[in-house]
Amino acid sequence: MRALTVIGNWKMNGSLSINQAWMQSVGEGMQCGMPAGRRFGVCVPFPYLHQCSQLLASSQLLLGAQDVSAHESGAYTGEVSAVMLQEMGVRFAIVGHSERRMQYGEANETIALKAGAALDHEITPIICVGETADERNSGRAIEAVRRQVASQVSTLQDRLVDCLIAYEPIWAIGTGKVASAQMAQDMHRAIRLQLAEFDHDVAAHIGIIYGGSVRADNATELFAMPDIDGGLVGGASLDAQEFLAICRA
Ligand code: PEP
Repeated sequence: MRALTVIGNWKMNGSLSINQAWMQSVGEGMQCGMPAGRRFGVCVPFPYLHQCSQLLASSQLLLGAQDVSAHESGAYTGEVSAVMLQEMGVRFAIVGHSERRMQYGEANETIALKAGAALDHEITPIICVGETADERNSGRAIEAVRRQVASQVSTLQDRLVDCLIAYEPIWAIGTGKVASAQMAQDMHRAIRLQLAEFDHDVAAHIGIIYGGSVRADNATELFAMPDIDGGLVGGASLDAQEFLAICRA
């Protein structure tokens, strides 16, 4: 049985006071009861990890980062290592978000190395994959996603089972254009079948979550799909009440 996982991705948003208010609202909301057997987390910007780890100390909400270095330590200006994140109490790290692939030229090989570095320090990598609008419109969506997944399989092998894959169609991120639940399910199924070509156990146990304009009013239908194991929530996670509603979905 795969645990449903809902993770917020604040991207480059937040402030000391905003974070404090958000954590307080979400903490109180979660105390009122959340569905059992689910995992909830939030990926905050690096400078706020320390503050948020303290605010989350007695909460069931888990802390995440939005990236991690492929390197352990050394002359890598601006990078943050998995061991540093582990010290901050980080449990999840997003790798290969499409914004990083497109704006910072992150390649599949680097993304797999980052995922491996996170795993080395007991951090669950959330490996993002997804197609562009062009790829979807020209019938190449599955081929594009397969290429990204294949690269992770070839590097991570059976360690993949300890990762989460986030299927995030790029045309749905931050656009309000959510994939239909069936369209998302079809891609999640395709990813699982691809993983089964490599290892049936990995395919059966890995969590594959959906991201792309998830909101409280579409989460229930998406999360009810058999191969959708939760969500990665960007914009809607900034609003504490909306995020709580998605977690309850
Ligand atoms: C994301 O950035 O991972 C994301 C899914 O964003 P949004 O929910 O805003 O589309």
